[in-house]
Amino acid sequence: MLQYLIRLDDLCPTNDLQKWERFFKLFDRYEIKPIIAVIPDNQDPKLNACGSFNPDYWQMVRQLQDKGYTIGMHGFEHRYQNKNSGLFKLNRRSEFAGLALHTQEAKIKAAVKIFKRENVQASLFIAPAHTFDTNTLIALVRNSEIQTISDGLLKSPYTRLGFRWIPVQLPEATVKANNTWTFNYHPETCSDEAFYKLEEFIAKYHTRFVSISDLNYKTYTLMDYLTEQYFIYMRLTKDFIKDIIAHFRGISL
Ligand SMILES: [Zn+2]
Repeated sequence: MLQYLIRLDDLCPTNDLQKWERFFKLFDRYEIKPIIAVIPDNQDPKLNACGSFNPDYWQMVRQLQDKGYTIGMHGFEHRYQNKNSGLFKLNRRSEFAGLALHTQEAKIKAAVKIFKRENVQASLFIAPAHTFDTNTLIALVRNSEIQTISDGLLKSPYTRLGFRWIPVQLPEATVKANNTWTFNYHPETCSDEAFYKLEEFIAKYHTRFVSISDLNYKTYTLMDYLTEQYFIYMRLTKDFIKDIIAHFRGISL
């Protein structure tokens, strides 16, 4: 079976909305229900530099929710606090991974409070920079109703550690033969070229796009663990080589 999902990251009050609306129009034209990574209280200076403040931010989030888009809790403030690369070692920066459980709980509690106040149902968790750890999962269990994580390296959704996991594997739409693939776009920084490619892809393959309610979850096996560890090992080896090259380049300068 072949299924595609699409996730847009970094919705916040300082977005350049024109960049987002072209995605929304495209999805609505083909009745695709994307996952939207909504930042509850953005304090990321990079994202704050993007545009003017939108006073109707939460009203917009509610409208997206009413259209059937899936709303994800994209961390709390989207502010990186350390260089921990978390469970999947995807990036060396995190708002959660490596922090004490009580600190992570305080963040999740604060995020849950904002979503409740704004009458928005966040049905999955999306860690900024894909970085979180088992304490983040405990914090979610204790302080939220979220049971699904939008992250992971495998080829299909699975259940593990009491959560449903929907892997996020590709930064752009890519033709595949089978399995379930999430394409992860960042509308703020997405080039026109990448967007036009997505338009063409969706025109051809829109019937393959599903929403999260259509998914089936398999049990996580030892083989899945080994596959995941292999991906992580390959990534770490690549990072290690990059670091060595950077180090020697630094010395030769
Ligand atoms: Zn983000």
